[in-house]
This record gives sequence, structure tokens and C-alpha cells, in this order.
Amino acid sequence: MNDRIDSTAHYRALDAAHHLHPFSDMDTLNRAGSRVIVKAEGVYLWDSEGSRIIDGMAGLWCVNVGYGRRELVDAASRQMQELPYYNTFFKTTHPPVIELSAMLANILPARFNRFLYCNSGSEAIDTALRAVHRYWALQGQTKKRYVIARTNAYHGSTIAGATLGGMSYMHEQMPSKIAHVVHIDQPYWFGEGGAMNKEAFGLARARQLEAKILELGADNVAAFIGEPFQGAGGVIFPPSAYWPEVERICRKHDVLLIADEVIGGFGRTGEWFAHEHFGFEPAVITMAKGLTSGYVPMGAVALSDRIAETIVQGGEFAHGFTYSGHPVAAAVALANLKLLRDEGIVARVKKDAGPYFQRRLHDALGDHPIVGEIAGAGLVAGIQLAEDRATRKRFINGDDIADMCRDCCFAGGLVMRASHDRMVLSPPLVVTHQEIDEIVDKAKAALDATARAL
Ligand SMILES: *Cc1c(COP(=O)(O)O)cnc(C)c1O
Repeated sequence: MNDRIDSTAHYRALDAAHHLHPFSDMDTLNRAGSRVIVKAEGVYLWDSEGSRIIDGMAGLWCVNVGYGRRELVDAASRQMQELPYYNTFFKTTHPPVIELSAMLANILPARFNRFLYCNSGSEAIDTALRAVHRYWALQGQTKKRYVIARTNAYHGSTIAGATLGGMSYMHEQMPSKIAHVVHIDQPYWFGEGGAMNKEAFGLARARQLEAKILELGADNVAAFIGEPFQGAGGVIFPPSAYWPEVERICRKHDVLLIADEVIGGFGRTGEWFAHEHFGFEPAVITMAKGLTSGYVPMGAVALSDRIAETIVQGGEFAHGFTYSGHPVAAAVALANLKLLRDEGIVARVKKDAGPYFQRRLHDALGDHPIVGEIAGAGLVAGIQLAEDRATRKRFINGDDIADMCRDCCFAGGLVMRASHDRMVLSPPLVVTHQEIDEIVDKAKAALDATARAL
């Protein structure tokens, strides 16, 4: 008997017996057995059977510099030996968190100079919310409590994150949500645009924000939160008129604009941050995922000067985590940001890898019989499945078809995720042309197989 197969069976049995996976139907998964991923290098993963898989998702949108980067491993190892942990609660600090903060201030637009740290995107969302409420309280505007979010948004899985998110199936599993959160519709033209042209639809969806602010009363609205492009919701890119109009409305009504950059940040679109791609100016930015390229967990919140100064001058802000600014995470984040900058990885996404990826996708799949649109920029794309491209007619069972396509990809050695009836790709930013060709060829093979099965 083969050793490897033995250990796979053994791992699967133990996994089924003891491990509850995120967002999974455990009974179904346990019957099928999880794929055991045992190592990774560059943009490739290997499972316990020895199969090689190309990772079209950079883990979960996070491994921006790719797997196996020695610089990050060394940064963690050095820091663990030097100072594995110390807190920053009681008048102490440490070099990695100081250097990381200065580095972030350099990378972000000039008005962002102060940062709060946490361990995940969800915690960044909670932290941003607490900072926003603290800001308005210090301004004497205690009535500004409402936060407006969007349908089909993803902002994490804590109670605040899941409430702000617009995933109804998550809301259904929550007997209570946080108060003062309301939703407006997403800027999803392909699915919801009807007879409107794209830009008119974008403006109409932005103006729902104004209608909601007026309905609640601007004096009662603290913030609007949105992902620059919706990631988990299916890589939905809003029409270009959308964000400038949202920004205008937020300014007019003195509502803070929070950009959830957990996926969009750190080079994904070819800019350092996705709000720069869309050309708008948020007041608060949430970050995680690409901050450390996923090598260790870390999240952060950037506060623009107006908010940061108020909080700095406002006495104790009673918020923080044991691991806020964790030295090892901060050292890894710093090493990661240096790679993104010094190796020109972000610049390469903009000038070379991004355009090549988008062009290859459009050439290979633009006319595919079950593809309705391809959205994206840089190294992120959403491929809409559709019965008819011209009329934007979606499949009635599109979610099942997308799941089938995802399974075909996995069987063919590609990780491509399904979100509703869209296939999504978000490879490591270091992906080469040849690897992009492999991703696109395998995606096409999976879409062909899916189309044949219909
Ligand atoms: C992943 C994600 C989160 C949540 O991050 P976690 O680290 O999983 O808590 C929040 N916002 C966006 C946009 C995300 O993609």
C-alpha cells in the first residue's frame, strides 16, 4: 500500500472527526473528504496525493507575493527570536510596529498617517466602526449612529462584519444583529441593471445612498462602507460613475466614507489600493489579507488626519486587542511591503501582468457560449456565467452551474472560485505570463466542460 494514500485517508478521517471548516456543509464535506494541501511554492499548491494545482485565488485573495518567500520566513524567525511578543497597551511599543506604521504612511495617500492594528479583516471592520463612532462622539455628534452598507457586500464574519455585509444567508443565521445598520442596493449592472445603460445605472445606485441619507436624516448617519469592488460577492466592478458620485454625496452630507480594502489593497488592481484605481478618497480604510500576504494573520485600519487628530486629542479610546500590532505579524507585514515595493511587484501588475491577464481572459473567454461578461482590473477578475450575453439573461440554476465549473477546475488542477453565478480569479501578484496562460487555459477547459454538461 502506498504511504501517501494511507496518510491522506488518515488525515481525512481525523479532519472529518474533529475539524469544523468555515462556510462549509460539514456533512457533505466529510462524506467527500477534504483535499489535504501540504505545501506550496510560487503560485503552485501540492496536495497529499502529490498533485500540483495552480492557485488562481492566491489562497483566499491574500498571498500577494506568492508562496515560499524566504524574506518573510526570515523576518518572522528573526522577530520570534528577538521579541516574539509584547503588548502596546501600557506605554510601550516596539520596532516592528513603529516601522510598519511609518511604511504604511508612506504607501498610502498623504492624508493617512495613523493606524490601528488587529488580527483579521473582520476585526478591522469592527475597529473601523468603533473609531467612526468614537470620532462622531468626540465631535459632539452623538446622533450620527447609522452606517449604510450594501447588499451582497462582504465585510467579514464577526457579528458587526456579518451585519454590515449584505449576504442574506448569513443574516438568516443570526438571531440578532448590531443596531443602526441599513443596506442599499449593490452597483451590479449585469444582474440588476435592467434596461439602463451602465453609467446611468451606476449613478442611480449611488443616488440610493443620498435617498437613504435623507430618509434617515444626515444628522443621524455616521458612515457609508463599501468594498471598492465587491470581492466575495463575485468581483463586481461598479460602473465608473459610481464611486465619484458616492464620494460627492458623502462629502455633501458629512458622512464618513469607509473603503473596505481587505481584498483591493496591496496591489490587486495595479494600484496600491483599489480606491486609487476607482479615483475616490475614503476617510477610513480597512486592510488585512495582502498586508502580510497571508503568511501570518494581521489586519489594520488607516484613519485620515481629520479623524485621527480628533481621536488623538480625545483622551483614551477604549479599544484594542492583546495582539494589536503583534511584533511577528508586523515584521512579516513590513518584509512583505518591502517586497511589493522594492521588487516593483505592484508596478508590474499595473504595466505588465495585469494587462496581460485581462487580455488573455478576454481573448479566450470573451465569446464563450456561457460567459456573459468579464469584469476586473489588474490581477482580479469576475467571469459572469450567462445563458445569453446580449440580453444579460442569467441561468436559473446559475449557482449550481458555477459550483460545477469550480469542481471541474479543481479536478483539472486549477483553483478558481465560484461566487453565486460568477467565477472569480485573483492569482498571486508574482504570476508569470506562462502561469497566466496556464490559468486561462485551465479556466477555459473547465468552462467548456461545464457548457458540454448543460
Ligand atoms: C475577507 C474579507 C473580510 C474579512 O476578513 P477576515 O480576515 O476573514 O476576517 C472583510 N472584508 C473584505 C472585503 C474581505 O474580503
